[in-house]
Amino acid sequence: MENNNNINENFTETLVENIPANEVESVIDNLRKTLSYHSDRYYNDDSPEIEDYEYDMMMRRLKMLEEKYPQYDVPDSPTKRVGGKADNTFESVEHIVRMESLQDAFSVGEIMDFEKRVTDEVKKADFVVEPKIDGLSVSLEYRDGVFVRGSTRGNGDVGEDVTSNLRVIHNIPLKLKKNIPFIEVRGEVYMPKRSFDRVVDRQIINGEKPFKNPRNAAAGSLRQKDSSVVFGRGLDIFVFNIQRIEGYDINSHKQSLDFLKELGFNTIPFYTKVDNITLALEEINRIGEVRGELEFDIDGAVIKVDSFAQRERLGSTAKYPKWAIAFKYPPEEKQTRLVDIEIAVGRTGVLTPTAVLESVHLAGTTVSRATLHNQDFINEKGIGIGDTVTVRKAGDIIPEVLCVNEHRSDSVFKFSNTCPSCGERVIRENGESTIRCINPECPAQLLRNLIHFCSRDAMDIEGLGPAVIETFVNEGMIKKTYDIYTLDPYKIASLDGFKETSAGNIIKSVEKSKDNDLANLIFALGIRHVGAKAGKLLAGRFKSMDALMSASVGDILQIDGCGEIIARSVVNYFSSESARELISKLKEYGVNMESVDTSQGNQLEGKVFVLTGTLPTLKRSEASALIESFGGKTSSSVSKKTDYVLAGENGGSKLDKAQSLGIEIIDEETFMGMIK
Ligand code: NAD
Repeated sequence: MENNNNINENFTETLVENIPANEVESVIDNLRKTLSYHSDRYYNDDSPEIEDYEYDMMMRRLKMLEEKYPQYDVPDSPTKRVGGKADNTFESVEHIVRMESLQDAFSVGEIMDFEKRVTDEVKKADFVVEPKIDGLSVSLEYRDGVFVRGSTRGNGDVGEDVTSNLRVIHNIPLKLKKNIPFIEVRGEVYMPKRSFDRVVDRQIINGEKPFKNPRNAAAGSLRQKDSSVVFGRGLDIFVFNIQRIEGYDINSHKQSLDFLKELGFNTIPFYTKVDNITLALEEINRIGEVRGELEFDIDGAVIKVDSFAQRERLGSTAKYPKWAIAFKYPPEEKQTRLVDIEIAVGRTGVLTPTAVLESVHLAGTTVSRATLHNQDFINEKGIGIGDTVTVRKAGDIIPEVLCVNEHRSDSVFKFSNTCPSCGERVIRENGESTIRCINPECPAQLLRNLIHFCSRDAMDIEGLGPAVIETFVNEGMIKKTYDIYTLDPYKIASLDGFKETSAGNIIKSVEKSKDNDLANLIFALGIRHVGAKAGKLLAGRFKSMDALMSASVGDILQIDGCGEIIARSVVNYFSSESARELISKLKEYGVNMESVDTSQGNQLEGKVFVLTGTLPTLKRSEASALIESFGGKTSSSVSKKTDYVLAGENGGSKLDKAQSLGIEIIDEETFMGMIK
């Protein structure tokens, strides 16, 4: 605790000092805007751009300024609101008992102040200390012992109905062990570290944007429209409160946790009841020591007054109860020696440097590696092998090198020009901080490239999904992408989980894929910046792979819709030896290298469509293909350039935008009429 306390001893003064009187209002205003921006990224996009600690310090600064300059305080300041809101994806649920937030503390002094406020009101109190789970808060309602509704916290008063998604979390009982008339409980849905690693691995393989941390992964998963996706994410829950109950009298927090357990809930994994604040602080310290070893992320520890009668006397502010406080573990920093820098090739081809450190104990874990992000970061900090550096780690984040304390090496570390995995030349594109290997056959990227190659919008090889591909790679049956076309049906049938029929079906789909249009093949190659749309444009213009391979940047730039970035990327790709070998092998195995004209008419010539919601009969990909084959274009966002929004059920915010811009909204029937 001492260490944590020291870190924060003087932050209160530095947060508000030295602001000239005429600038206070604009500083406050800017803080509100910045906090609101980051709150949106965090709660609504599940994709934060800054660390929680940074956000918390900004919030703290605003709060202190509002206290010091009450003339600039406003009732709807973020300091008085519970973050998050319910959007229109799900039905809204009004919370009868408000789902409050928690006041936070970053130093021992603040915990002592909390105790003083409590004991000023209730003389003497017992406290319960428990881990603060880093997930998202939900309410679960049970009538006659049966789970009837579950919702998110939202803004505390109104949340979203996510019942069907909560039903698939196996630790949420659908029926309680006691048939009580009504109970509403509160808990934290979280993603265990194990599930998080698995989900992120999959996202990387599939070329999706990976979740930043388990908290965002849990929030993003719970707000999925399709419950089967939620099921696959491996979410879990810890229940920690009774919000409302009928027919039972419960008087303390400890009693309520025991009762919740009896009902069959997975309650908060451990808690300690203490009769004074010094013991509570010791418990916080203990939790801080073990937090790195837990199977789930915590972002602090919560101290709660145990007695419900005392809680009632203490009451709440607009945002949080006065009977509880969350101690947030601040990031810890230590000095150590950087003994080596390792470069790894990720599955997207990006080269990432990792510092190998002399081990130090930080934030409850032993740290011997830290991220160095990229070459720019290394240059900026002037990092070299042998230097003494400061490393920082908060509970849930990957350790990072903050600065160099002592240079021991003569030079700043430089990446080599070749890929450590395949030895081919690496590139750094203009304006990018990352260096990447673009060799399509680089072993480090093989799995991801194969999954993309076989996917639906690419070569559409049914039966060759991610799991099957992984098996074939592990069995050594696919070492290069083109090995797909020489798969041996007998070898497949001999593997666990396969039979002659399934092996035959795979071979059939592989054969069928040879007839795909050139556009599919171009997209399947996974050339950076070349999506399905660019694939079609390139195929439409060059008609054959040979012509595309000999095209110059200037030739590609002539296509409406292909800019400099795509053009350079294509030319770069085909300049690689491995890419040429891949194409020549695919040709040899009979894969089609020509484009056939798929246009069906020009009724939609030049018209821009945006798709939203679920159409009654057409899949999105089918609607897009139809639009393009009749000369139209599709775009992902509504703007003044949009001609039509083709809308199905549950259209969402694109419809509001279309209405506000006066853009025509059409349904599937009208659309089909346009291309008849
Ligand atoms: P909070 O997360 O600090 O505390 C309240 C929440 O803690 C409750 O909703 C509750 O569900 C949860 N909780 C977990 N375990 C609990 C337990 N044992 N007992 C009681 N409650 C428990 O407050 P908040 O308002 O939900 O979120 C604010 C926090 O979110 C900030 O402190 C910040 O760290 C983070 N945030 C970060 C960003 C960013 O850009 N990085 C943006 C917005 C918010």
